[in-house]
Amino acid sequence: MGKLGLGCMRLPLLDADKADSVDREHACRMVDRFLEEGGTYFDTAYMYHHFQSECIVKEILVDRHPRECYTLADKLPLIYPEKLGDLDALFQEQLEKCGVDYFDYYLLHDVNISHLETAKQYGCFDFLRRLKAEGKARKIGFSFHDSAQLLDQVLAEHPEMDFVQLQINYLDWENEGIQSRLCYETAVRHGKPVVVMEPVKGGTLAQISEEGQQILQALHPDWSPSVWALRFAAGLEQVMVVLSGMSNMEQMEENLRMLKETPPMGPEELQALRRTADLLRGGKEVPCTACRYCVDGCPQQIAIPEYFALYNAEKQAPSSGYSAQKEYYGNLVQSHGKASDCVTCGQCENVCPQHLPIIQKLKDVAALLEH
Ligand code: SF4
Ligand code: SF4
Repeated sequence: MGKLGLGCMRLPLLDADKADSVDREHACRMVDRFLEEGGTYFDTAYMYHHFQSECIVKEILVDRHPRECYTLADKLPLIYPEKLGDLDALFQEQLEKCGVDYFDYYLLHDVNISHLETAKQYGCFDFLRRLKAEGKARKIGFSFHDSAQLLDQVLAEHPEMDFVQLQINYLDWENEGIQSRLCYETAVRHGKPVVVMEPVKGGTLAQISEEGQQILQALHPDWSPSVWALRFAAGLEQVMVVLSGMSNMEQMEENLRMLKETPPMGPEELQALRRTADLLRGGKEVPCTACRYCVDGCPQQIAIPEYFALYNAEKQAPSSGYSAQKEYYGNLVQSHGKASDCVTCGQCENVCPQHLPIIQKLKDVAALLEH
């Protein structure tokens, strides 16, 4: 089944307001169809589905299919430092919840500038190395939400990591704040296979404007917007798995049908996606072109274009509990001034070729991303 992986964070629910109310019967049918079509990669994590995803994976997959039929990825949660004092106990809990005695892929979950410090403090990289040596984790890696520069640093310091999981989609590909392309190229430079998360950007790219759909359908009338998004990610050579959080059988059937083979996209397809991304960004709230003329003169070292890119992305994203934009914003403010640190000196507005009301827009950024 090509590169498609089944993400177990958006399984079908009986009650849309209850993340742990997974419709087991529906989910079992999806698992069976996925395996039937040759799919193997399942991805879970400690906190998905209100901390129930691992147990649900045991019910719908592990208890019902031979271990050698599938590969299972799980993650060490870095956001619960209180759990990291006893890594063996935490790992054992995860094995038991999933009902397995090893993971095929085991990742540090969500490495960014602050979680990296946590991982170092608790010896998490050494722990993963040990798990691999003991055969309890066949491949080790980390999921990552931060700049390409930090990714480069982590991969240089930890060549033992077998793979990385990155946020990649055609809308974030050139986003100043998220840096999908730069992160992908960094992984390629280090020779690391890539698992893609958020290929449809939390559903944003499944429901695009009529105009955007027309651009895409002119080339492939039978590809839905989400198939386009998945195929973009899957067409990248170094990508080994594209995780799709399929929430019903219909989505799964479409993906199984359309992602059997995913050759790299050709120039016409990439051009269509670029035009669509421009169009989606065209409706953006702050029409910053990321020329960076404003950056050097700012006495508060505010990452103006990055913040505007994240602000625009947040405005486009459907509202849900987790916000990747807020996370990237949180990373950036550790080494830059916050939007709310602006002292209204006006230097940036004097040089902005787009004549943007930067001071006011930074207030909007602060209101949206600092809470
Ligand atoms: S007005 Fe604010 S953002 Fe602009 S240069 Fe001054 S401190 Fe920086
Ligand atoms: S000068 Fe204006 S357009 Fe250029 S990066 Fe700054 S805010 Fe954006």
